[in-house]
Amino acid sequence: MKIIKRIDTWVEVLKKLPEVRYAGDLVLRQVVSEVKVEEGVVLGEKLGRVLIKYRKIADYGRGFAAPQIGEGKAVFVTFVDNRLQTFINPKIIERSEETNFYRELCLSSGIMAADTERPEWMVMEWTDVNGQRQKQKVDGFLARLYQHEEAHLRGKINLDEAMEGGIVFATFDPLKEQLRKTRG
Ligand SMILES: [Zn+2]
Repeated sequence: MKIIKRIDTWVEVLKKLPEVRYAGDLVLRQVVSEVKVEEGVVLGEKLGRVLIKYRKIADYGRGFAAPQIGEGKAVFVTFVDNRLQTFINPKIIERSEETNFYRELCLSSGIMAADTERPEWMVMEWTDVNGQRQKQKVDGFLARLYQHEEAHLRGKINLDEAMEGGIVFATFDPLKEQLRKTRG
């Protein structure tokens, strides 16, 4: 993918999704506060609408967190297998020692990608939209996605967690990107 295509996409996002916050906005660097379930559900629906709009523009995009629309609240959404899911007050309670590498994109990082090293699997707890506390061990791409979104709630974006020299222009095809065992 050529960088010019990425820039075109980003310009469209800037025009059509004015609620999105970008790197440099301090709201992205704040640790969020927990929310009540009802508030989490409303916020999840709002985030879901933006993520779906984004996917129409960019053809990809799997997750979106509350700080990215200026809300310092512990909520993120994912879009996986054609389904939106809301995670309220998520907490990672266990992480593997084994790690992997992946060039992460983020709506809030514009045309830049960040190669980041993260645990290969982890266990996360969260509250679902019915108010039930859930717990799941995930690995592979899902573990990567959840950790990226959870990092937003700790006030970190992918650029903050990139390995040394890992911040690059996103000229690759995000749909073909693979998890790697080594830094490469
Ligand atoms: Zn992100």
